[in-house]
Amino acid sequence: MTRRPGFPARIDLGSAPAAPRKAPSHAVPAGMGLDSQAFRGRMVGKLAAEGISDAQVLAAMQSVERHRFVDSALANQSYEDTSLPIGLGQTISKPSVVARMIELLMAGQRTPGGRLGRVLEVGTGCGYQAAVLACVAIEVYSIERLRGLHEKARDNLRPLRIANVHLLFGDGMAGYARGAPYAGIIAAAGGEAIPQAWIDQLAPGGRIVAPMVMPQGAQALCVVEKTASEVKQTVLETVHFVPLKSGIA
Ligand code: SAH
Repeated sequence: MTRRPGFPARIDLGSAPAAPRKAPSHAVPAGMGLDSQAFRGRMVGKLAAEGISDAQVLAAMQSVERHRFVDSALANQSYEDTSLPIGLGQTISKPSVVARMIELLMAGQRTPGGRLGRVLEVGTGCGYQAAVLACVAIEVYSIERLRGLHEKARDNLRPLRIANVHLLFGDGMAGYARGAPYAGIIAAAGGEAIPQAWIDQLAPGGRIVAPMVMPQGAQALCVVEKTASEVKQTVLETVHFVPLKSGIA
């Protein structure tokens, strides 16, 4: 059973033994990795209570250590349902939004083993969502347009030795044709429309889950479903993402 922390929740930053392996430069204080299991358990309990029901998604959210992806000064907020700054004006999405979007993605085409096939993530950011996707998909291509964040994600993911994530530096508005067709495409940044390249690179039976700017100016979550004969777009709840931008920087 998962041990539930008392309230007010406090992450013990110092009492456990140091990690045995060489710590990466952004290392969180020793002990966090051990104690964070309970904080993730509490976070996953809330996600389930709020309606996330896919067991693979919940297991993935339980296993990825979100505190490893944020600045150590913010580590004690890493299991709250909040977005946090990751540098260069960008943010790591709220856990509830990550879980919701991946659950929507998984309602599309799955492999016989029940996982997603190949997935494209647009907007790697710090690499957190890519790590979560790696738990539920066979292969993840994740593209980022800001070199500083592409490198940060590489540094964050390297110690986790995740073999099925491929990080790419480039403009994800064009998708990534070399990895296509994708069973799913997920975007962490919102534009005015779903780029045609994403629809073209989606496999029949696949889904795109992305924020999109609505005519009134607010963003909403959009699901695009592609079949052999049609492309259907559904608009869901309001969300708040950073803008999808073209070009690299
Ligand atoms: N999934 C990320 C969220 C990062 S925020 C995480 O877990 O941390 C969204 C990211 O999308 C930002 O880093 C931003 O630079 C990136 N982005 C915006 N437009 C993009 C584009 N056209 N191609 C690739 N990345 C883009």
